[in-house]
Amino acid sequence: MTDTSALAGAKLIDFELSSDLREFQARAREFALRELRPNAARWDVEGAYPDAGVRAAATAGFLGITIPREYGGSALGSLASCVMLEELNAECASTGVTVSVHNSLVAAPLAKWGNDAQRRRYLPRMAKGEMIGAYCLSEAGSGSDAAALRCEARKDGDRYVLNGPKLWITTGSEADLFIVFARTSDERVKGISAFLVEATYPGVGVGKKERKLGIRASPTVEILLDNVEVPAANLLDEEGNGFTVALDTLDGGRLGIASQALGIARASVDLLRDRLARRTDAKGRPACSQAAQWELADLAAELDGARFLTWRAAILRDRGVPCGREAAMAKLVTSRLANRAARSAVALLGEEGASGATAAERYVRDARITEIYEGATDIQRLVVARAELSP
Ligand SMILES: Cc1cc2nc3c(=O)[nH]c(=O)nc-3n(C[C@H](O)[C@H](O)[C@H](O)COP(=O)(O)OP(=O)(O)OC[C@H]3O[C@@H](n4cnc5c(N)ncnc54)[C@H](O)[C@@H]3O)c2cc1C
Repeated sequence: MTDTSALAGAKLIDFELSSDLREFQARAREFALRELRPNAARWDVEGAYPDAGVRAAATAGFLGITIPREYGGSALGSLASCVMLEELNAECASTGVTVSVHNSLVAAPLAKWGNDAQRRRYLPRMAKGEMIGAYCLSEAGSGSDAAALRCEARKDGDRYVLNGPKLWITTGSEADLFIVFARTSDERVKGISAFLVEATYPGVGVGKKERKLGIRASPTVEILLDNVEVPAANLLDEEGNGFTVALDTLDGGRLGIASQALGIARASVDLLRDRLARRTDAKGRPACSQAAQWELADLAAELDGARFLTWRAAILRDRGVPCGREAAMAKLVTSRLANRAARSAVALLGEEGASGATAAERYVRDARITEIYEGATDIQRLVVARAELSP
């Protein structure tokens, strides 16, 4: 028989956050309760960019979490980022996505793929919130099929000239720095390059602002590039490697959106638990229906499971291990859960859920987008299925 004595007492896996991360989580929660909770409903109704929330997040150090220390960040990494984003999104998904895009779609790839000059020029200001980032990949004819993009980058001496509209750009109207993906040749994938484009470059314009179902305080706009001259020094990584940069970045971004979904799901479950717990009989025993209790039990269990999926992918990413499959699983499961939990909260709270007397109706509207951006649900299934079926 195999000797298993060496396994006795072995700690194979730890489901607890470290004490440092628990402290950080408490700090993020306290921040979200203080800075976001009192304002989130108003920002949503007014459709106003949560400038105060984003500035406060910068002061708290939340905009430098993916930035190396030598460039002014805290370099806390993906797991800490997920922990923080769950807290922010539990109170305000519009502020949450602004911080997520800035950190995971702009600062992180700039830190990873940028050269020292590029990092020195932008990262310290991004860490302080003096520069806010936006990510310009999507176009009218290229969403899920990102490699179909047509925005043009023509080399002209020591610069590139960029032309073409980018659609659905989160924080586009407020951002100071864009990562723009554009075509440097006709080759479908190898013809895509990534550029660092400052909002003040002549020819950069903000077009139509979208009127949206949810995350209404997060401005989503068209970014117009009209003969924008970008110094060749602002090419991110090598010419032709933009698609690799885009896909690698989206693995991190998906963890941000998974954490957003976790935040919305948790807020929905917390609200539901609070309201159901108030329904007691004369002896103080739970008096809500068994159907309601089962729904609460299912949601609470699935929430814990979804969080572990997300943290697993984040831990892999922090270790530098490819995590495309795991990040897709996390986003797939958390985003569906956020939608179900929010709908259940509205259903079981009845009038209080649907009327705006509680935040449940906002959770329903905010949850919907988590199944669309940074790879729609079907695309996450495609990524997971490909990984499952690959030899
Ligand atoms: C609020 C908001 C903010 C956004 N922010 C940004 C941003 O900051 N930067 C940016 O670059 N983009 C952004 N986007 C764009 C977003 O990433 C795209 O909307 C998303 O990738 C889906 O693309 P699409 O809308 O073109 O839908 P389509 O690609 O047309 O997909 C429509 C449907 O078809 C399904 N589908 C498509 N292809 C396949 C396939 N091969 N197999 C199975 N099903 C498929 C999809 O799952 C989806 O359900 C944002 C979008 C929204 C709504």
